[in-house]
Amino acid sequence: MKIFCIGRNYVAHIAELGNDRPTAPVVFMKPDTALLRNNEDFYIPDFSQDIHHEVELVLRVGKEGKNIQPQFAHKYIDGIGLGIDFTARDLQAGLKAKGLPWEISKSFNSSAPISQIVPVPAWETLQQLHFHLDVNGERRQTGDTTLMLFPLEELVAYISQFFHLKHGDLIYTGTPEGVAAVKAGDRLQGYLPSVQEAPMFDFLVK
Ligand code: ZN
Repeated sequence: MKIFCIGRNYVAHIAELGNDRPTAPVVFMKPDTALLRNNEDFYIPDFSQDIHHEVELVLRVGKEGKNIQPQFAHKYIDGIGLGIDFTARDLQAGLKAKGLPWEISKSFNSSAPISQIVPVPAWETLQQLHFHLDVNGERRQTGDTTLMLFPLEELVAYISQFFHLKHGDLIYTGTPEGVAAVKAGDRLQGYLPSVQEAPMFDFLVK
């Protein structure tokens, strides 16, 4: 399976990192070894002093497809979840400055915690879905799919121009503003209130 991630999909997050607004979705990938499931602890790796959380709505592909038109995108997504795109911001900054690929700062082991996947609510619901991340009980990031620069159907269509989508592939759809460093002892809880009251994920940083 493949894990796609979208960068720079919320205007306020682009501003907080001082990036340019993209004219097409920014796509990168993580290997399956990045997944961290079942609320397992996340261990801060030795190679970074600045691991940031990025909470993101995640889509699961339920049907094979390529060159998908935006109006048919919903037929290819069978589940949603909430995930974190952990980013070694210090490594990423160095790579970005040199114009180099940023894989090691984004795609390292356990860099993609994922909640359970639940069936897709009505597509209309998905287009105005609220989510948030609490760190140690305090609201840290709040997202809403209405604020996406490239809406969900455009992301699916765009990715499918380059990559054959297969059942089980995941798409991390970008993070809203509020990214910040995690430290040992932090508790991260992600919520999708229209799906369930309990956290979608709830894990510790060590
Ligand atoms: Zn991200």
